[in-house]
Amino acid sequence: MDIFSKIAVGEIPSYKCAENNKFYAFLDINPLAKGHTLVIPRREVDYIFDMEDDELAEFEVFAKQVAQAIRRAFPCRKVAQVVLGLEVAHAHIHLIPIDSEADVDFHKTKLKLSEAEFQEISAKIRSEFGK
Ligand code: 5GP
Repeated sequence: MDIFSKIAVGEIPSYKCAENNKFYAFLDINPLAKGHTLVIPRREVDYIFDMEDDELAEFEVFAKQVAQAIRRAFPCRKVAQVVLGLEVAHAHIHLIPIDSEADVDFHKTKLKLSEAEFQEISAKIRSEFGK
């Protein structure tokens, strides 16, 4: 099992933001902003564009619902959606609250958050999910 699959089944701990039977969302451990979330399919697939059309469509709808929860929890101009996948070979969408283009610069220094802050952020998103 790859690292994100282990996260999705709870074998590796994560700060859960949302889930359903097919997809899982959790906080990025090196966030660009408070609320930076990763959305993954539970099924193991590396490259997002190898996903079947139906699965990809459902994945995107789930990501949309998570993005709406993030925006309610952390007001921002928009929630950016970024797909890289160069580090972890399990398809994932980054959802990042942004006010400007500079907020999606992956080279900038990541936030250092405490355990309590990660807990608080994920709880806020969870409470907004599905409203
Ligand atoms: P990418 O594959 O999109 O280039 O980057 C992978 C992202 O996953 C990075 O932003 C990195 O911080 C995040 N990441 C890598 N390993 C873990 C992990 O074990 N837990 C969490 N929560 N995030 C991770």
